[in-house]
Amino acid sequence: MKKIILVRYGEIILKGLNRPVFEEKLISNIKKSIYTLGKVEVLKSQARIYIEPTQEDYDFDSAIEKLRKIFGIVSVSQVWKIETDFEQIKSYSLELAKEMVRINGNKTFKVETKRGNKRFPMESPEISREVGAYILENIPDLNVDVIKPSFIIYLEVRENSYVYSKILPANGGMPLGSNGKAVLLLSGGIDSPVAGWMIAKRGVEIEAVHFYSYPYTSERAKDKVIELTKILASYCGKVNLHIVPFTEIQLEIREKCPEDQMTIIMRRIMMMIAERIAKKVEALALITGECVGQVASQTIQSLAVTNAVVEMPVFRPLIGMDKNEVIDIARKIGTFETSILPYEDCCTVFVAKHPKTKPQLQKIIESENHLDLEKLVDAAVEQTEVMHIRV
Ligand code: ATP
Ligand code: MG
Repeated sequence: MKKIILVRYGEIILKGLNRPVFEEKLISNIKKSIYTLGKVEVLKSQARIYIEPTQEDYDFDSAIEKLRKIFGIVSVSQVWKIETDFEQIKSYSLELAKEMVRINGNKTFKVETKRGNKRFPMESPEISREVGAYILENIPDLNVDVIKPSFIIYLEVRENSYVYSKILPANGGMPLGSNGKAVLLLSGGIDSPVAGWMIAKRGVEIEAVHFYSYPYTSERAKDKVIELTKILASYCGKVNLHIVPFTEIQLEIREKCPEDQMTIIMRRIMMMIAERIAKKVEALALITGECVGQVASQTIQSLAVTNAVVEMPVFRPLIGMDKNEVIDIARKIGTFETSILPYEDCCTVFVAKHPKTKPQLQKIIESENHLDLEKLVDAAVEQTEVMHIRV
């Protein structure tokens, strides 16, 4: 018997002729993610990936934790790899059932079998029945419950056979790097990290851009964004964070533009700069955490005016979500606790008392003409600091 890890993937299977490309990408991402934990062999067979440690004392828990964050993976199990021999299947199933009873004091179980190897003489239901009966004979007080068992013994009978009791869900999606690159406008709030995660999940590599208004926003606000980027990097392997000095631009806007247009103009300039950075890093789209109707700058009119300043597609994966739904995802992916730390965002520092909720593009452009936009944007891009964040 050998302890190994079984990885299942989903949507990639539908990829037709391109499927091997996606599979190779996934395998390469898996190798990169766990290589620090020790030597393993990674094998692909029948729409599954098997990870076999080739050294003693492999840290399975850490490996599984990392694997569950890799996009493209649907679920992960730690399994016992055994020979496809019915005596072995029975005895290891019993072994695992004993372990489950010993650890959790479980009282009911069932056996679920998948037979991929059609040369094996017994069919799946028959295997489940016989293995179940064998376990019952050998563990007093244990009962079968096929509806709501306290544990399940899973059996897979293939070239080799596999015995396990847990299927740990992962996030699905597509392997990172299989769908190009986009630039995420990352604030310190709840929404934008979730938006970035959602697009990364579809296989899109992410670079983050943060607008920083020192000294109006503190060093702490910057640290928070670095921390959020680290959390994103725990899913993406590495994320470059571009920190754009934004104070000068905001002071100019405050001085030269009508107060009630301040926010929308600021949002447009953010988009402009993000697009410049995106072109530089060869990204093809922008991502924001905007959501229809959430604040004045996210009315449908404001979104249209903001959008009009860029040519690239802008992905807004949260556009139709309620705050509660976004918070649920933020909790699940681990960004929530960091996002709710108190901080000042550049948008909250320079904010009008009554921002326009129905801006008109023409009027906004007229106001922007009072600014030397080219020069301001060039200078901001020039002074941008890039941090390479990886886990
Ligand atoms: P979030 O929770 O992501 O901060 P929000 O609901 O607070 O979003 P806004 O402050 O209006 O909404 O920002 C809308 C979007 O603009 C954000 O989701 C983010 O993509 C981008 N954004 C806002 N502030 C910044 C910033 N300082 N740096 C980079 N992007 C920003
Ligand atoms: Mg915000």
